[in-house]
Formats: sequence, C-alpha cells, structure tokens
Amino acid sequence: MNKQLKTLERTVILTSLPLTKAKVEVLSYIYRVYGKILVEALEYMRSNNITSWVKVKKILYRRFREKYPDVPSHYIHEAIRDASQRLKSFKKLMKRGLARTDKPIVRRWSVGCDNQLWKLSFEGVRIATHKGWVNIPLRFHKLFWRYYNSGWTLRSSARWKLVGSKLYLYVVFMRNIEVRSVCSTRIYGIDINENNVTIYCFPKNKAITIITNLSKIVLGYAYRRARIQQKWSKLFGVKDNRRLRASLRKLKERNLKRDIRFKLARKIIKIVKDGTVVLEKLPKRFQDKVIEKDKRLNGLDIHRLKQSSIRGIHKLITEKLEEHSIPHVLVNSSHTSSLCPICGSKLVPMTGHAQRNGWKPRIMTCSRCGFIHDRDVVGAMNLVRKYLLDVGGYAVCLPKGAHDLHVEWFVTTMRHGVEAQPVLVRPIMT
Ligand SMILES: [Zn+2]
Repeated sequence: MNKQLKTLERTVILTSLPLTKAKVEVLSYIYRVYGKILVEALEYMRSNNITSWVKVKKILYRRFREKYPDVPSHYIHEAIRDASQRLKSFKKLMKRGLARTDKPIVRRWSVGCDNQLWKLSFEGVRIATHKGWVNIPLRFHKLFWRYYNSGWTLRSSARWKLVGSKLYLYVVFMRNIEVRSVCSTRIYGIDINENNVTIYCFPKNKAITIITNLSKIVLGYAYRRARIQQKWSKLFGVKDNRRLRASLRKLKERNLKRDIRFKLARKIIKIVKDGTVVLEKLPKRFQDKVIEKDKRLNGLDIHRLKQSSIRGIHKLITEKLEEHSIPHVLVNSSHTSSLCPICGSKLVPMTGHAQRNGWKPRIMTCSRCGFIHDRDVVGAMNLVRKYLLDVGGYAVCLPKGAHDLHVEWFVTTMRHGVEAQPVLVRPIMT
C-alpha cells in the first residue's frame, strides 16, 4: 500500500463583538488603503502582462511605500500578492472562456495578513495598523475549539474584513492526513436525493436507504413563513415590521437542516468506513438545469429544489470522507436511475412518482432481465457499476451474476427536532 499525504484545509470565520468608533476608523483606513493598492497593482500587472509576485514587488513596492508611508509594510506585500493571485485566476477563467469581463475587476476584498500582522490570543485578535496594535475581542465558537483541540494546526496567515462595526476574521486550520489507496474489495455507491440517501454495498449486495424527508421540511417552513407573513403584515404592513422579523427569526430552518446534514454524514461514515466510496459528480448549477428541463415546476417546487441542499450534503460527505481518510471517487451520474444495473437496458417505472411531501418507494423494472427494485437503490447500484466498468472493464458487477436479482434492502428514517424527543405519555385522569 503506498502512503500518500494530503493537506486538508478548513476555513473558520470568527466574528468580533461590536467595536468602538475609533477602532472601526483605524481598521477601515487599512481596509481602504489595501483595496487601493490591490486595484492599482492589478491594473499595473495586467497592462504590463506580469503575473509573478516577486517581480512586481520589486518594481512597485517603493512606489506604494512612498504613497502610503504610515501603513505597515507587510500589508503592501500582501496586497501585491493578492493582486497576482487574482490575475492568475482571471487568466485561467479567460482560457476556459468563463470570464464575464475583459479585465479583472475588484468588487470585494478582504485584507490578507501574514504572521507579522495578526496575533491570536484567548481573548481575541490583535491586528497591526498604522496606529499600532488594535485589540479586537472575538466570539469564539464551538467549531473553532473543535478544530483547535483535535489535531488541526492554525495557518500563520489570515484574512479579515469589516462588516458594519464588526470584524470578520477568516482563519484556516490545516491537517495532514494519510490517503489510503483505493481498495476494490468493498465498494459503496452513495446516491443522494432530495428526500433520502441510499448506500449500496458491492460485494455484500445490500442497500440501505436513509430517509431525510428534507423536501417536507422545506415546504413546511415555506408554508409557516407565508402564514406568519400574512398574519403580521395585515396588522402592521411589511416594511420595518419588528414583530414580523422577530417571529420569522424564530423559525430556524437553516439550523435544523444543518443538524440533519451532520447527523446524516456521521451515519454514513459509520457505514462506509471499511471501503471505497463512489459518489456522483455534481454538475455546476445542476438544480437550475433540473428546473429548466421540467417546465411543469411551479414557484414552490422551485423553492423546494433550490433549498433541498443536495449539494450541501454532497460537500459535507466528501469532507468527512477526507477527514476519516476514506478513499472516494466521483463518477458521471448520467442515466444512473434509468438503466438496469445488471444488463444495462432501459428500466420501466412501475409505481410512484417523485413525492413533494416525503419519500416513497418508486419501483422500477427491467423488461429484459426481470430485475425489480427501487429507483434510488438502482441509482446507487449504477454508481458502483460505472466505477467498476471504469477500472475493471466488466459489465456485471453483482457477485452472484445476473441470475440472483435479489438485493437486500433496509430503509430507516432519520428523526430530528421535535420528532426526536421521546413521546410523553399523557397522564391519565382519574
Ligand atoms: Zn436488466
């Protein structure tokens, strides 16, 4: 087994407490100067066609030093480095024909700091400015401490920006992990859908469907939001309605969905930790493509699809796989839920359509070999099949051959929120 090391990076955002006017003024001066240097350096590099950071620094450093003698010199280095990175990535976009403008434009920026410009302590962060060090109290959160205490190291550079009177600090945690080489003795295909995640285990020929019912949650929140809006706007109007905003804030849709995602990822890791995982390659903006393709979808369906966070689940699963150094591969997902995983011919749906309010089995059948199973299991099986075709070149992936069409299937439902609470028995009145 060849050992390979890979560096994982995770950015954590820390926000400050509201800062005093004086501090905001000092910091926003640095922020503005940094932006000016960034724009000017970028323009210079573009018109002279230089991308090398070191080269430009030699030419431009003096100029900026004289222009802004009061800002710490490291900010000039960082801004020039920033400019060179921006130009490089812009050129890459140009090459692929994805650039929307004919030259790089600086719309937003954050201030880059090397290890000389910021110091983290347990109370907060100190940032170097033209008026000396500025102390900024930070709100440390659970996620930060989790990384801090579990073997991740803090990168020496950070970035910050100002939002109103608060400072947002972007720190990066790094960790080296060993990449296990892909093993082909046990392969798991994971098919991610709006309402469920299905895992198919290759040599065992078993499938597990974990039902999340996310579409139900999204729709439930949409209806509740509409009701609240109707109720309060009738009384006080929509604009500047404090009561409306307060009651909308009580709906914690994002938190609930995040909890579900994390729970789901934990469950999946437990199942797949002894093998190689095959996931589908998600195309960019794939939800928009689904919406474009299906003209019957109306407003609420579009909202549901956009909010279903398939991409979020996909991202979290791949992140967790990396952290647990479980090898994973991405395969193209076209036709994975419409072709027979055994003989490759077209499947015919027997029952059920995509359900708006929750998951239901959708049985598909193959007219050629007689294979019958749920659409999501078919999807997961096809992912494994595609992977095996890619590496081994054999079409039938089932161990017992095409004659045994039986795939063992378990279905479980994720419980969350109120449902997860133990049900209290109503006291009996006597
Ligand atoms: Zn078939």
